[in-house]
Amino acid sequence: LAQLFRPLDMLGMVYRTIRQGLIDMAEMFRLLDEPQEVSDAPGAPALVIRRPSVVFENVEFGYEKDRTILKGLSFEVPAGQNFAVVGPSGAGKSTLARLLFRFYDPWSGRILIDGQDIAQVTQESLRAAIGIVPQDSVLFNETIGYNIAYGRSDATQADVEAAARGAALMPLIERLPQRFETEVGERGLKLSGGEKQRVAIARTLVKNPPILLLDEATSALDTRTEQDILATLHRVSEDRTSISIAHRLSTIADSDRILVLQDGCLAESGTHLELLRHDGLYAEMWARQAAEAEELSEAAE
Ligand code: ADP
Ligand code: MG
Repeated sequence: LAQLFRPLDMLGMVYRTIRQGLIDMAEMFRLLDEPQEVSDAPGAPALVIRRPSVVFENVEFGYEKDRTILKGLSFEVPAGQNFAVVGPSGAGKSTLARLLFRFYDPWSGRILIDGQDIAQVTQESLRAAIGIVPQDSVLFNETIGYNIAYGRSDATQADVEAAARGAALMPLIERLPQRFETEVGERGLKLSGGEKQRVAIARTLVKNPPILLLDEATSALDTRTEQDILATLHRVSEDRTSISIAHRLSTIADSDRILVLQDGCLAESGTHLELLRHDGLYAEMWARQAAEAEELSEAAE
């Protein structure tokens, strides 16, 4: 009897995995409130990455027909470099991230990864290549272990634990009654914004992708945890291509290059020192944040 059941079990498992994948993807889009507006081109090949460069070529895009958000954006992130994107709220930073993950297609212009137009490859291969830590992370109604392993089907328990450690999640998990088997999400244990962000970071560490896309990935964390996680993200970014969207400039000052986005256009770009010397928008934002930090530390005394 056991012999008869084993293949059925296997089928059941495969079916569950596929269905889970679809439901989760659908759920993710629903929770992210992102309409699924793109589709694979007929016979689209998989993205093949040798050197994970990222190029925006004159990208124009808006959510509504008569309101352009990105106004002909061009930049190139060479393979292996760590870039940052900063700028005022509403400048289009998260929009840029959504386009790179292909939640939407540009109105005009192209986005290339390693020379391949992302609109011409399968969405599956594109999304497998990018580890994304969004501004608002979404958890599935599953165990915390599942949530961390999500995105790499062959992840072992050791991979999951290493990632949890890297994302400073172990103190939380040790406190949970069923540790990695604890149910989280809407119907399970509710996690704070910062804890959800750390699960998303752990998920990215497990996935181990060639490109990292961090959208204010540490914004919901306290300063101490932020320092720990920034160190981890720094280490994993080192031999990868990364784009970090940041509000707090001190967290990205050592990037290879900083792109300053304003009103959907590239206003300035350069290293931290170059931009300070340039004495434009970045220098102004830097001075403002330094003054705020000073006020805070004075208030704390
Ligand atoms: P940032 O991340 O730089 O703060 P966003 O890229 O999120 O800015 O948003 C840029 C602009 O696009 C904002 O004016 C915002 O209101 C608008 N926007 C963002 N998402 C949507 C959406 N789903 N539908 C319509 N407008 C949107
Ligand atoms: Mg944003």
